[in-house]
Amino acid sequence: MSSQYSSGKQLVVVAGAGVVGLSTALVMQQSGLYQVVIVSDHLVSVPASTDKVIARIKASNGSEFVFRDPATIPALEMASPYAGAHWRSLATNSDVLLQQCEKETFGRISALEKDNVTFDGKPIVTKLKGMDYYMQKPLETPWYFDFVSKLKIQKEGQDGADFPSGIELAVEYDTFVINSPLYCAYLHSEFIKSGGQFVKSKLSKLGDCETIVSKLNLGSSKRIHAIINCTALGSKHLADIKDNNMHPVRGQVVIVYAPQIKRTVTKLGGPAMRYVIPRGDGTVILGGTHLPNNFDTQIDNDTTTSILNETLDLTPELVPGYKPSCPNSIPKSQALQLLRKNVLAVKVGFRPGRTGGVRLEKSIITGSLSNSSITVIHNYGHSGFGVQSSWGFANMAYRMLIPYKL
Ligand SMILES: Cc1cc2nc3c(=O)[nH]c(=O)nc-3n(C[C@H](O)[C@H](O)[C@H](O)COP(=O)(O)OP(=O)(O)OC[C@H]3O[C@@H](n4cnc5c(N)ncnc54)[C@H](O)[C@@H]3O)c2cc1C
Repeated sequence: MSSQYSSGKQLVVVAGAGVVGLSTALVMQQSGLYQVVIVSDHLVSVPASTDKVIARIKASNGSEFVFRDPATIPALEMASPYAGAHWRSLATNSDVLLQQCEKETFGRISALEKDNVTFDGKPIVTKLKGMDYYMQKPLETPWYFDFVSKLKIQKEGQDGADFPSGIELAVEYDTFVINSPLYCAYLHSEFIKSGGQFVKSKLSKLGDCETIVSKLNLGSSKRIHAIINCTALGSKHLADIKDNNMHPVRGQVVIVYAPQIKRTVTKLGGPAMRYVIPRGDGTVILGGTHLPNNFDTQIDNDTTTSILNETLDLTPELVPGYKPSCPNSIPKSQALQLLRKNVLAVKVGFRPGRTGGVRLEKSIITGSLSNSSITVIHNYGHSGFGVQSSWGFANMAYRMLIPYKL
């Protein structure tokens, strides 16, 4: 039986429509070699003007900022709409594969920013300064110090530097924020424009993709050439995958309205990770927690208080008029009250963690209709770096699929 699609293209099914599945599907569809169908139980969409208003904030210019929640999909079923997301490398100096994927994604998002690409009238990518505050100097120089541009390293006290308390070293460089929910909606729209098809369905096993595509109007042959598995935490439950290495990594974040924030700030070291990510639409993500194997979807109020308190120390400009080093600054207690007034939502998301790292490999499963073998390329388990490495991993999966010709 031929796996040629009537247009001469082979049929590829991508399971999952998070940032990794959508990127992978788009790369394959745009290659011109494949007709791609995405099968997913969820899809991120931009909130409509008719959706429920979560918060209204009076802006300083008198206008009203209206917030509708872009992350309404059950958090344990999809990570992508909950991510910030900023490009700050999480690849170790020895992890060349992740470095490569992060570099390729950096190139892709810098092109989107350069071209002023927007979706729903808002920028998808924002270029800004990234500030990494180290509580202790890193033992070795991180690889990306040689990759990013306009890198500036300062030690506490050097040239009058005045860091938040407990910080030894500050590293500033040019980076990008990807508005993750908006980017997902954009990727889906580009995928459909390129001729891709989307089917909303919850799979109990990957082999069921065969039954699903058999019902589509795809031309003469519906034989699947390959399935790309981008189901992230779903891979733990699919009957023909059952990857017990997958586990959620809980992240609680606070979303505030603070359009004046023009940099990302990350504190490295200490008991809890803390970061500030402006999404380019007036909203800012204040994080967060990183709790492996924690399935708790409930908001922890003490965590919210700590996040607000500690991110304010890192980024005093969250509250105009609060300048801790100035004698005429408003007191911190008042600044915290003002910050709380600008809270739009508190969210809990789950990174798709995997013991052993990302699964990027081929395997074989059995199709539920033909009972014959189908090639699967797995591309899941991107934990806390799935957005900033998504384009690179999509390209890797594509390179694993295309036949090499000498
Ligand atoms: C609080 C928080 C902050 C983060 N910050 C960053 C950051 O700054 N930078 C960064 O790069 N990353 C960040 N991340 C991580 C990032 O969100 C993930 O790595 C990324 O979203 C993973 O994308 P994915 O497409 O693999 O998975 P997901 O987004 O989880 O998508 C999985 C897809 O598979 C589908 N699926 C699953 N099971 C089935 C099934 N049985 N049948 C059909 N469909 C199925 C789902 O519907 C969904 O469409 C953060 C995450 C969190 C929670």
